Amino acid sequence: MIDLRIKVDPFPIVAPLVVRLRDQASDPGPSDATLIELDGSRREYDFQGFSLALHATGDLKLDNDVIMILPGQPSARRLIRADSQHNTLLITEQCDQLCLMCSQPPKKHHVDLFSELEIAASLAPPNSYIGLSGGEPLLHKWKLFDMLLSLSKKRPDLAFHILSNGQHFVEEDVEKLREIGVERILWGIPVYAATADDHDAMVKKAGAFDRLLESFSVLFEAGAAIELRTVVMQQNWNGLPALAAFVGTTLPFVERWAIMQLENIGFGRMNWDASFKDTSTDFENVARAINIAIARAVPVQLYNFPLCSVPARYRHLAQASISDWKNKHEPFCASCSSRQRCGGFFEWYRHKTGFRGLGPI
Ligand code: SF4
Repeated sequence: MIDLRIKVDPFPIVAPLVVRLRDQASDPGPSDATLIELDGSRREYDFQGFSLALHATGDLKLDNDVIMILPGQPSARRLIRADSQHNTLLITEQCDQLCLMCSQPPKKHHVDLFSELEIAASLAPPNSYIGLSGGEPLLHKWKLFDMLLSLSKKRPDLAFHILSNGQHFVEEDVEKLREIGVERILWGIPVYAATADDHDAMVKKAGAFDRLLESFSVLFEAGAAIELRTVVMQQNWNGLPALAAFVGTTLPFVERWAIMQLENIGFGRMNWDASFKDTSTDFENVARAINIAIARAVPVQLYNFPLCSVPARYRHLAQASISDWKNKHEPFCASCSSRQRCGGFFEWYRHKTGFRGLGPI
């Protein structure tokens, strides 16, 4: 697991500070800190004439990483890792759903860091693809839209993948979405069942399914790109083929449909025994759903499925979707010839209660 925090010596600030670390910089910008001394694990940077000291192992590359230091905190957050394709900024921990499989259960309070996150994104390497997640980012829709609009002007090379529960788009957003630039954003939005009762039960919110359909029509009108996301669970197992038919008839305009395995953390861990469906021993309804979707020209991908859990016929759909910082393999993977292609497991996956039908291929 890659640590997304980095130890920092006390720094006299009263507000969050976003800094880009540079090994060398002939013309440092106002947010740049330039390395002046490396002494074992201690790295000293010059930041606007002040000494900023971090502690990291010697081989950890930090050049062009963007960190955020919070007042009084002993560690900084690595917001942008310059050599990673898996940078995600947390917009808020608030949410208006309580999904059975949620990996990041909501909190009541919102810490507003929009201006810091905007600075961080603006300092990202050229052509970065940045994730924005929550909680539900659209609970703070206008601040989010303002940030995206500002970044679309400052950094038109950036693209974003935004996770949303799809409960907050309204007709008036169409113009704003187009102004931000629909080609630069992929909206990752979940749907768990083809019927309102089933979907609403899984997200624990009455009316969520109908509201979701309203949001899809707004996004469709705007020309926005949608990645539909469905976590496979015992609760929606029998309904997967019907959901595939629903996607094919009602939502054929989506960019892709991601069928996902459950993450063993947050509510997903709390509900693991009642929700995890071992698709390594029974793939049938996923296969049926894939076949229906493909027949209706909906592009399908499999996320978070270890490659050997997927029948050979469908393995080309399995993506290495788990972010590098929270990814691992199991000891039995050591002799597997597909290890390089396989997305492996979440760091917090527990094999004792997980897939029973895995093995080197
Ligand atoms: S044995 Fe491990 S590396 Fe090989 S496909 Fe299975 S999970 Fe992936």
